[in-house]
Amino acid sequence: MKFVYDFSEGNKDLKDLLGGKGANLAEMTNLGLPVPPGFTITTEACRAYLRDGDHVDGLAAEIDEHLAALERQMGRRLGDADDPLLVSVRSGAKFSMPGMMETVLNVGLTDASVAGLSRQAGGNDRFAWDSYRRLIQMFGKTVCDVPGHEFEDALHEAKTAKGVTDDVQLDAADLRELVAAYKKVFAEHTGHEFPQDPRDQMDQAVAAVFRSWNADRAVLYRRQERIPTDLGTAVNVVAMVFGNLGADSGTGVAFTRDPASGEQGVYGDYLANAQGEDVVAGIRNTLALAELEKLDKRSYDELMRIMATLEGHYRDLCDIEFTIERGKLWMLQTRVGKRTAAAAFTIAAQLVDEGVIDLDEALTRVTGAQLGQLMFPRFDLAGDPSALTRGVGASPGAAYGEVVFTSERAVEVAAGGKPVILVRRETNPDDLPGMIAANGILTSRGGKTSHAAVVARGMGKTCVCGADQVAVSGTTFTVGETVVEEGDVISIDGTTGRVYLGEVPVRPSEVVQYFEGDLDPARANDPLVAAVHRILTHADSRRALRVRTNADTGTDAARARRFGAQGIGLCRTEHMFLGDRRELVERLILARTDTDRDAALAALQPLQRADFLEIFREMNGLPVTIRLIDPPLHEFLPSLEELAVRVAVQHEHGRRDEHDERLLAAVRRMHEQNPMLGLRGVRLGLVIPGLFAMQVRAIAEAAVALAAEGGAPRPEIMVPLVGAVQELETVRAEAERIIAEVIGDSPVEILIGTMIEVPRAALTAGQIAEAAEFFSFGTNDLTQMAWGFSRDDVEGAFFWRYLELGIFGISPFESIDADGVGRLVRIATEEGRAARPGLKLGVCGEHGGDPDSVRFFHEVGLDYVSCSPFRVPIARLEAGRAAVDTDGSDHR
Ligand code: PEP
Ligand code: MG
Repeated sequence: MKFVYDFSEGNKDLKDLLGGKGANLAEMTNLGLPVPPGFTITTEACRAYLRDGDHVDGLAAEIDEHLAALERQMGRRLGDADDPLLVSVRSGAKFSMPGMMETVLNVGLTDASVAGLSRQAGGNDRFAWDSYRRLIQMFGKTVCDVPGHEFEDALHEAKTAKGVTDDVQLDAADLRELVAAYKKVFAEHTGHEFPQDPRDQMDQAVAAVFRSWNADRAVLYRRQERIPTDLGTAVNVVAMVFGNLGADSGTGVAFTRDPASGEQGVYGDYLANAQGEDVVAGIRNTLALAELEKLDKRSYDELMRIMATLEGHYRDLCDIEFTIERGKLWMLQTRVGKRTAAAAFTIAAQLVDEGVIDLDEALTRVTGAQLGQLMFPRFDLAGDPSALTRGVGASPGAAYGEVVFTSERAVEVAAGGKPVILVRRETNPDDLPGMIAANGILTSRGGKTSHAAVVARGMGKTCVCGADQVAVSGTTFTVGETVVEEGDVISIDGTTGRVYLGEVPVRPSEVVQYFEGDLDPARANDPLVAAVHRILTHADSRRALRVRTNADTGTDAARARRFGAQGIGLCRTEHMFLGDRRELVERLILARTDTDRDAALAALQPLQRADFLEIFREMNGLPVTIRLIDPPLHEFLPSLEELAVRVAVQHEHGRRDEHDERLLAAVRRMHEQNPMLGLRGVRLGLVIPGLFAMQVRAIAEAAVALAAEGGAPRPEIMVPLVGAVQELETVRAEAERIIAEVIGDSPVEILIGTMIEVPRAALTAGQIAEAAEFFSFGTNDLTQMAWGFSRDDVEGAFFWRYLELGIFGISPFESIDADGVGRLVRIATEEGRAARPGLKLGVCGEHGGDPDSVRFFHEVGLDYVSCSPFRVPIARLEAGRAAVDTDGSDHR
């Protein structure tokens, strides 16, 4: 097995093996771009290291070989006293995990080589000692877990002793002393001296990068982004180039288009005389990239040429990191860049216009999750609230919440159910838990490429950064005279960068207005709306899956239809038994005689008929699946505890209320330990005579009524919780009789089918299909019963532990468990269709609107998915993507 690849040996398609950074460094090297020489140690080596520990067979020898080649190429030896080669040791996993893992710069510097570095830099002692102290700091923190603040304290002391406030005011002698202080800190914490063998430094740094794959924050980030836990990271060892050699040096980050809006034209940040991660960390406020043209036109022009080359080559927005060392430009990284949801749609449509990609490919460049983000509400500024201040709109959205200043506090307050805005000078990877918990993030420093911005964009979280009037101090921040304390509410607009005091009201997004058909005419030519329209229309033309909605009211049905629903896949009739009809249901449950029961049913029937008629009207011409009542009847009765107390109190006062006593007896009789596994669904229909019959009659009568008005109702009656064909046959026989009676010679046609939501139904689907014209997978119950997880209880009780252990990356109630529950779906699909060719198959559990699950249902070959109205566009898009893209795994 080969563990190490020179940059000239790899290419961009080897991300699994070389990680994103390594694969793209190789690609740029092959394109002839100025990349500092180096090599990549593979993810396979990382996995072997994490599995077997320090001694990965053959790895050291391969590193020796590649280091020797690098030394030959550079004409310098690693850490050589006279003329040292220094290297950076950088992490780089398959999927970008900004700032989550480790990097060590200046590896190879020792007491002996620091003078040699100074000579290389034209006698710049200050630079050499500064580089050395940075190495000890990074190495100490990253490789040996020395607490970072120890170094920061020492630096602070050095500045105080000298009476200065800025690092750059420390001269070579000060930094030399600082190195001595850092070495002391290092030795105190580790029990040994700072390593003086350059190769030993490098090996330790490589191992630390491997280990950082399992750092808490990396684990948390992967979970959040649904990145598999077992990939490992590659390590890139790259010859150092220096952006901190003076005014003619610097470092920057750039995008080939604006990653926030998608607007054409390069965009970026530049920091003169700075090293490595200074830009990304948002430590100092940066210059706009355009300023570089004035500082160093030659490098700027070359950079523009390279960016055009990269965009043409990758056929997409690229982001890059570069360094200029004394007027010479070096490319340190590139990749297809992260972008906001709006930019993803806008750029995909632009690239189609530019003839770079076709519409099929445009469809693979956007995701349902991104479309979902575009449907979030925006601030309603009609009241003209005045902004407290303004920063850079780094990740769009409208968020409000209580101000908190630490990651820990954000987690605490959010756990109490309150929205929070995390306010920081800048964020760093340790803030990740707080960033996840917060509704929005506000920082006072850093640009669109700062840590806060990059991570927030990746998560689709609202972020305003670089609001430099915000002065953060302890648990308050001030803007001029205004003081904002922890717990005060602010609102932040991630599009405009504006920050408001208090809670600003919100309005629907443009994209939702477009779906609703009430887009402000002034925005009719909005490029984003146009891009969404175009890509979604294309998705519709490509998808094999139809998209229906789950709706139980005419209003929801109408909205879903505007959003593109092609029918109703689930109308939960139990929702129609609530509110002021509860009393009628109570009468039904308490009925002692057939006459009482029939009277209660007769009272419910016209109400049900009216419900159905309204829905059929809204969905005229489209199929409407109506599910017969499902939940345990006791849900319609008062709680056992409350009622028992009430009756006990009555007794104490010597009173008796006959109604309450009968009610209590009924509640006691119907009380179940596991109501989710009890008297529900078809079981209820078989136990309470006339209940299903009343609903079937109401459905048939509503259909006949609409047909009489000239409409085209297409009802489908669905029986819930079936586990055996006999259950379905019993219900079916009665339903057919009633339908025949009601319909007479009306042209109405009514299908009868079943939910598949009990594992036994999936396993006997061949038999069940004999009595069903359609199946609809109820993946909520199917998940509950396949795993044996109570869907009402588990999320808080123990799922956190399952997620922590990686037993699953996401709740199986949210995204379909393809291997287990999905297998039941496959079995039922195959056996159902074998028994009844033409059997209609759909899904109506929550998974019908989950992007990854939609892809799965496409692969299984279902006819439709059904989801809540707001998810209909998302499902349409995902179904289109699934149809054009057989391997969607890289499009996150
Ligand atoms: C299901 O179980 O997936 C389903 C759609 O039914 P409900 O959620 O109403 O139980
Ligand atoms: Mg169910």
